[in-house]
Amino acid sequence: MAHILLDFDAYKHNLEYLGSKLGDISKLMVVLKDNAYGHGIKKIAPLAAACGIKRAVVKNISEAKKIMDFFDKVLILIESSPSKALVHEKLIYACDSLEALELFPPQCYIDLKLDTNMHRHGILKEQIQQAFEIIVKRRLNLVGAFTHFYSADMLRSDFFVQKKIFDETKITCKHLTQKYNLPPLCFHSRNSSAILRIQDDFDDDFARAGIASYGYCDLPSEFGTFDLKPVLSLWAKKICTKHLKKGDVVGYGASFIANEDMTISSYDVGYGDGLFRQNGINNTSTKQGLEFLGKMSMDCFSVKSTEEYICVFDDVSKMAKHFNTISYEILTKLSPYLKKIVTYQTKS
Ligand SMILES: *Cc1c(COP(=O)(O)O)cnc(C)c1O
Repeated sequence: MAHILLDFDAYKHNLEYLGSKLGDISKLMVVLKDNAYGHGIKKIAPLAAACGIKRAVVKNISEAKKIMDFFDKVLILIESSPSKALVHEKLIYACDSLEALELFPPQCYIDLKLDTNMHRHGILKEQIQQAFEIIVKRRLNLVGAFTHFYSADMLRSDFFVQKKIFDETKITCKHLTQKYNLPPLCFHSRNSSAILRIQDDFDDDFARAGIASYGYCDLPSEFGTFDLKPVLSLWAKKICTKHLKKGDVVGYGASFIANEDMTISSYDVGYGDGLFRQNGINNTSTKQGLEFLGKMSMDCFSVKSTEEYICVFDDVSKMAKHFNTISYEILTKLSPYLKKIVTYQTKS
């Protein structure tokens, strides 16, 4: 059966590498949103915990419930019904507007999501005072504040502008926690690219690593090279082998025509499993360089091979480039139905 292999040693290596940038691996929050970027949230959570990770970030409460046993704290990025939020000491909700602050139930643990120019969502610098007033009035448990960088992977000054705004808001938040006699807050701002850019200047309490923990980096080469290893590989199993005569066609639309007698096999992965579709005109190839023949079907593809198993990819960078997209998209599109198997280096 088609399956995904998850390389525990690669994952551990990436977490330790990122942790070394922060000086302490327990300052690293692992981002497990969207089924752990397609890797399988339930498989990845215990691996992260085994590496000493204490905090995770997820998209919603349904993801949080799947993994909260493995961590001390879980940050939930999007709560679409704040008034119905589950109050639990492990669950922290990102709160991105004054309106939402009026809705979360009393005692609920929240992090203020601060808008530092990304203009997607978040509380503005000018609204912080008002936010604290609502928090105190409504007896919410404010535990942290964070922001998100929109260009940490680019050669632009915007990163520094955002960082400066966040540094200023941190000071404001510190004054306000003292004024209202609230416990000190945990601050975090850096995503993968911003973590990789650290040069002894890490000044937050935590950082949030998504894509780099899975082994990918989108920083241009000007920033240097980084020691990351892809965690996921996709494998397909042979369905059957066919012997073609010159002129025989393969698949929908007959877009592949054998130019000689050849032996091919079909394998059990297709675009229905979340793989980007090979359209028969501009196809790419598998890890071993076997070109996909013709149009990919929903549940299978054909290549010139008779192997029992084929590695479709163990590094999605090539496919991302081919489809003019980013590694994040290739990974998160993978079907949650694909079976996942964790591999450990055999100890000699
Ligand atoms: C997705 C996300 C991250 C992780 O980003 P990467 O670039 O994958 O490291 C961090 N913080 C927030 C708020 C996110 O939404």
